[in-house]
Amino acid sequence: MNRVNNPLDHSNRADPDNIQGLLSGTEPSFAAVFEFTTMGIAIISLSGLWLRVNNPLCALTGYMEEELVFKEIHAFFPPEEAENLEQCFAHLLSGEIDTVQLEKKVIQKDRTTAWVEFRISLIRDLHRVPLYYLSQISYLSQKTEMERKLAESEQRYKSLIEHNPAGILTCDLKGMIRSLNPAMERILGFEEGEMVGKTINDFWKQENQAYDTVDSIVSNTDNYMLRVKHKNGEKIELGLKNVPIIVDGRNEGIYVIARDITQHNKDRESLRVAQQDLHDTVRRQQGMTMKFRKMQGTFIHTLCDGELLYRLGFKPSNILGNHLYEIWPYPLAANIETYYRKAWNGEENVMYEATFRGITYLTSLRPIVENGRVVEVIGSCVDITERKQMETELRETKDLLESFISNTTDAICVLDLQARVMSVNGAYEQIFGWHQSELLSKPLPIYPDFMEEQRKEIYDMLKAGKQISGLETVRLRKDGQLVHVSVTKTPIKNEKGEIIGFAGITRDITERNRTEELLRKSDKLSVAGQLAAGLAHEIRNPLTSLRGFLQLLQNDVKGKQHYFDIMLSELDRINFIVSEFLVIAKPEAIHYKQSDLKDILQSVTALLDTQAVLCNVGLLLEFETEIPQLVCSEMHLKQLFINLVKNAIEAIPKEGQIKLTVSMQGDNLIRVRTEDNGCGIPEDRLKQLGEPFYTTKEKGTGLGLMMCFKIVEAHNGTMTIQSHLGEGTAIDVFLPTQPSGQSIKELP
Ligand code: ADP
Ligand code: MG
Repeated sequence: MNRVNNPLDHSNRADPDNIQGLLSGTEPSFAAVFEFTTMGIAIISLSGLWLRVNNPLCALTGYMEEELVFKEIHAFFPPEEAENLEQCFAHLLSGEIDTVQLEKKVIQKDRTTAWVEFRISLIRDLHRVPLYYLSQISYLSQKTEMERKLAESEQRYKSLIEHNPAGILTCDLKGMIRSLNPAMERILGFEEGEMVGKTINDFWKQENQAYDTVDSIVSNTDNYMLRVKHKNGEKIELGLKNVPIIVDGRNEGIYVIARDITQHNKDRESLRVAQQDLHDTVRRQQGMTMKFRKMQGTFIHTLCDGELLYRLGFKPSNILGNHLYEIWPYPLAANIETYYRKAWNGEENVMYEATFRGITYLTSLRPIVENGRVVEVIGSCVDITERKQMETELRETKDLLESFISNTTDAICVLDLQARVMSVNGAYEQIFGWHQSELLSKPLPIYPDFMEEQRKEIYDMLKAGKQISGLETVRLRKDGQLVHVSVTKTPIKNEKGEIIGFAGITRDITERNRTEELLRKSDKLSVAGQLAAGLAHEIRNPLTSLRGFLQLLQNDVKGKQHYFDIMLSELDRINFIVSEFLVIAKPEAIHYKQSDLKDILQSVTALLDTQAVLCNVGLLLEFETEIPQLVCSEMHLKQLFINLVKNAIEAIPKEGQIKLTVSMQGDNLIRVRTEDNGCGIPEDRLKQLGEPFYTTKEKGTGLGLMMCFKIVEAHNGTMTIQSHLGEGTAIDVFLPTQPSGQSIKELP
């Protein structure tokens, strides 16, 4: 508080009697007025303390005199009023004015406020030195109170209009604009000055026929909408309401209350579009979306749409508001209901498949939970008919493929990138003798040691994405035997084309090789046979004449009988050999009959014994069991074993041992093994044995083994040769006792 520095202040506060002294100097009439007037009067110190108060003032404030005196007067007014009061004091002190009159709220003792009229004057002494303030306080008169209230309500009304977010415009009954509020200025873009005095129609330029005249606007009592132009030319939409201005019961004009609903309308439109869009999306989806909730114990559908629905032969109206049993046949409805129940009980991700009218669809249900309670369940359904069909087809193809793989006679194996076994088929197990369980996750054990190089080459090629097809090679069986195979290997690729493993198909071609070999041999054989037959005829005829003339001469020439015997026996030998050739060419010369193999073999050994002894070779014949009789051509079997034993003798360089062992293989198969410990045959030559004219001997014919093969074959038997270089040779002849099948084959 800015107070004038006055000695009174101190003295007043220090000594109240001094004031009495000060005041006692006033005229007695003043004192009387002070005491007896009905108006509240107070003397206020220059520092703003009540110094003296009269009774009416006490009554007005509700305080006792002693409660007021020496108290600061601003404590008795609301803060904003007190501040204003102080300014007034300052003006008075400065001498600008002598008296102020204020309307003020005063705080009464009971904390209520009352409006008072407050007149304050500054009292000075003769030298114009300020002494104190004299104030008169009275309740505001009835009229001024009214005026004040009116002003207040006018202010309120103005504030309501000024600050109203709605645009408000007043016009008379002819539509002449009187005023508009700032909100209306903002909405239309015009300032008040630009509009007042014009009619609303100047601004309400209509596109809307219904409100084309001023009357039609002014008289409208409903909410209405107008499309008008903003000052900047943009079209805006207004939502409007007219409120009549009634003064003294007379309609003087209207308030037009406007709200810019352009954005609102836009929002509403986009909401509508979004809703339509959502609806269309649900309807046009390939699948189907539905919702249901439980009402009075049954599941009622509240939404269902989508193309699948129509494909199932329904429309939304068939589903909406209906429960399961009204839609589906009994067993299907009951089945679906179990899933509905699960979802309704809050289970997430409930899925089920249903088939109806040949369509299989998959539904997944999802409960919608609000405040911990399931209020609805959404289901989305997709048509999986095709997928199901494809699955079936795929399964069938897979079965077919699997059956093919397991039934084919080709060995099939699948390996991973590290060439470890992932699976092998039955044929693989059969050909190589390994069981799948022994092979899994291991490298293939079928490469002979000397084929390591090849193994590496093969996998290098496969890893480079190349295929190996029809590679003829050998592989190792579990029992250590080599098998001739044709190998095809391919890299397995995934859909990205990356190699993820290898597949191998291995075909056992031992049999094929054997057949091929046989074919090759028989090819040469038939040439040899034809040659031999021709030669034999040509030789035999001159031989007959030679023999005839020799016998004729034999009678005439005496003393040289010995030479004739030799010549005749040599001729007979030539004839025998030639006949043998003819045997090859002429099948009708062979006679099969029941014979005893023991006799045949014994006559063979007897025949060759002498030669064996000469060559330092022991010849042994051994029967492991009793041997039944067999149907055969005795002469040919002799020929067969003579050839074998002769070869054996010739294979022994200095001295050695030949052993013929006869045993039974089962009930009907006789095996005759001819073993020697001679020079043996190199492995790569084994194949050639039996080819006509293949010989390693200086005076050999290379026809012996060929004949042997033929004879054995004609008896429906087989012959196998095993030999180790430098160790010896063993040749097995297998002969059936009762040659099965049709007739015994004929020799060519
Ligand atoms: P040849 O005896 O006239 O040579 P073969 O057809 O009887 O004709 O025999 C062909 C070849 O087979 C012989 O030259 C010989 O090299 C080989 N051979 C046959 N039997 C044996 C054997 N037991 N031991 C070693 N080599 C044999
Ligand atoms: Mg021979």
